[in-house]
Amino acid sequence: MSSPHDHSRLPQPSAIDFDQTPFVAIWETTRACDLACRHCRAEAIPDRSEDELTTGQGFALLTELAGMGTPICVLSGGDPAKRPDLCALVEHGARTGMRMATIPAATPLLTKDLIRDLKAAGLAQMALSLDGPSAEVHDTFRGVPGAFDLTFQAARWAHELGVPLQINTTFSEYNSGSLGQMVSLVRKLDVVFWEVFFLVPMGRGRELGQMNADQFEEMFARLAAFAHSVDFIVKITEAPHYRRYLMQNRRKTDGGANHPHAAGGHGLLPAHMRRDFGPGGSIGVAPRGVNSGNGYVFVNYLGEIFPSGFLPLSCGNVKNDSIAEVYRSHSVFRELRTPELLKGKCGICEFRHICGGSRARAYAMTGDYLEVEPFCAYEPKKG
Ligand code: SF4
Repeated sequence: MSSPHDHSRLPQPSAIDFDQTPFVAIWETTRACDLACRHCRAEAIPDRSEDELTTGQGFALLTELAGMGTPICVLSGGDPAKRPDLCALVEHGARTGMRMATIPAATPLLTKDLIRDLKAAGLAQMALSLDGPSAEVHDTFRGVPGAFDLTFQAARWAHELGVPLQINTTFSEYNSGSLGQMVSLVRKLDVVFWEVFFLVPMGRGRELGQMNADQFEEMFARLAAFAHSVDFIVKITEAPHYRRYLMQNRRKTDGGANHPHAAGGHGLLPAHMRRDFGPGGSIGVAPRGVNSGNGYVFVNYLGEIFPSGFLPLSCGNVKNDSIAEVYRSHSVFRELRTPELLKGKCGICEFRHICGGSRARAYAMTGDYLEVEPFCAYEPKKG
């Protein structure tokens, strides 16, 4: 049997065909969580549901995901630390060859012993959420006093135990003004990966203000400059037009040699935007433009299969359906992987293969997952 840290069976990232295999699978292991975050997609509740996937069903899901060639699996929530079998799930996933990550909530359940056990089980990366540069902003966002301090304590434990640390930050109009302070804070936290989410208005997040297209562009410029200045991964989620921004910026300096269609087609990103691994061989970013249902699949706490956690269209249930079959063949997934079907300017945009706009935001704001990205400032030329 391979060791828990054996990832030798993983395919080369650039060899992954997103029509067959997701680059990352997220399993919301539970909806239970003791925090009450203002942007919570899951609208988490304090207690676990009796209808969550069992340990055995979870093992079967992880085995099937690995069988599809999925390189990265994230155990999310709710708070995955609410599940007593969390370490067993990580260990099973790691033994199949996947890089296992998890996103525990910063509550008293997240102890140094738990992080030690997760590492021993083969955890490749641990993510913590940080949405504000001060206890006042973060704890207001998370709905529980003390979450800010617990996050820093958990970050220290991760460093002491040698667990690669990721920070997740969700930006909305509520906290976009603190980007500069957040950048300084993340820089100090010695992370391998900063995942920056742009709010999708769903769940409790509907109550937070959204940034407009110009504010997105401003954030892109500042994030790109920051990403250029650090050696860790800065990944943008639910704003795929950041990739368009990077391409346009590059064109200004190389005269157009990095046109998306000259970059390998089918959404393969040009070399300057690819990074297979982060610092010390930690998790890198996808070599193609990941979007809902396109290199990405989400399983909720009941086992329902979605193109993304932010796109609430149930396409099956792992209790009865093969996730490989649903990912590869369900009409919603197939449509999401066909940029020619996109409506409005996204459908004619030369960046649609690497971008395509946030399908989740289009759905949240229009009810149509093929509609135009609501907050993109770019106007593609017709014809
Ligand atoms: S128009 Fe649509 S596909 Fe083109 S860059 Fe904007 S969001 Fe992306």
